[in-house]
Amino acid sequence: MKRSNVQPANFAGNPVVSVVVPVFNERTMLPVFLDRLLPILDSLTVATELVFIDDGSEDGSAHYLASALAQHSHMRLVKLSRNFGKEAAVTAGLEHATGDAVVVIDADLQDPPEHIQAMVEEWQSGSDVVLMQRRSRQGESVMKRLSAHLFYRLLNCTSRTNIPVDTGDFRLMSRRAVDALLSLGERNRYMKGLFAWIGMPTVVLQYDRAPRAAGVTKWDYPGLVGLALEGLTSFSTSPLRWATGVGLIAATVGALFGAWIVLKATLLGDATSGYPSLVAIITFLGGIQLLSVGIVGEYVGKTYVETKQRPIYLTEEVIESRQANSKSGNISKGHYRHAKTS
Ligand code: UDP
Ligand code: MG
Repeated sequence: MKRSNVQPANFAGNPVVSVVVPVFNERTMLPVFLDRLLPILDSLTVATELVFIDDGSEDGSAHYLASALAQHSHMRLVKLSRNFGKEAAVTAGLEHATGDAVVVIDADLQDPPEHIQAMVEEWQSGSDVVLMQRRSRQGESVMKRLSAHLFYRLLNCTSRTNIPVDTGDFRLMSRRAVDALLSLGERNRYMKGLFAWIGMPTVVLQYDRAPRAAGVTKWDYPGLVGLALEGLTSFSTSPLRWATGVGLIAATVGALFGAWIVLKATLLGDATSGYPSLVAIITFLGGIQLLSVGIVGEYVGKTYVETKQRPIYLTEEVIESRQANSKSGNISKGHYRHAKTS
């Protein structure tokens, strides 16, 4: 994967930390987010640049960010041509970040920006990756917490790469780690898996995950189940997954039917003729077969998607803040139309 052709910010040799923010329909959230983030960035011991990725928002988020760019320095807005999903947006952010280290943070203030200073300190004392691990998840339903808990454990049972429990995309990565991550060319951007795959000296800091400050989560349960399956098989193609679902249902119905026949014969003494048990067995085995074909299909689909070699996202426009402050050097003011990014 090629790095973007954005010029690196020149801060006269001082270390620069890029803060990457994926944004999808966060118009109500953005003013609150900027109000809280900007003073924190100013108070950091390193220079910063802010990279917003507008992931095809339809609520005027990009317009708001473009006007914020006019007022603040060291900001970059990368507009994707449509909604590509958070994983692609984060990849775009990493490609457009020029700093010596990169922090990925959500726009909804669930990842408290107050922790950035501590992350920077860990990086400066030699860690390539500073992982933020959720000690608690406020404002999230018991179901979401439970399913997240089970999912991370299941993932680690099935995968050889050890994916740290209860960590999201909120993390700091050194330039070395970011470049390593960008060298992984797969279309499937299951970021948690990719982050874990690169290894490197890692330190884990714990934090309390705040509730979303405004707006609504972009995740619903089908979405989360989808992400989970993607994590487990590393990709997904829905029709093949339907086969899996239908197979499961058929197998369950077959098994229940079989159990019912056995119960009826033993408890009620209703001797069964061959026909119903035959149906039960055929349905059960048919279901299992469909399930297996579905699982194989998951991997065939994954190969199919990878062989197409499509870019992970398309950029519509890259806008730089026009103003430079005293700490700053030259940020390029390019507008790239449909920059090819992979
Ligand atoms: N996001 C994105 N593209 C998407 C969905 C979400 O860039 O398709 C961004 C969103 O704007 C937010 C972050 O990813 O900054 C996390 O999203 P959200 O809060 O909806 O996820 P959750 O915290 O519930 O996992
Ligand atoms: Mg959130």
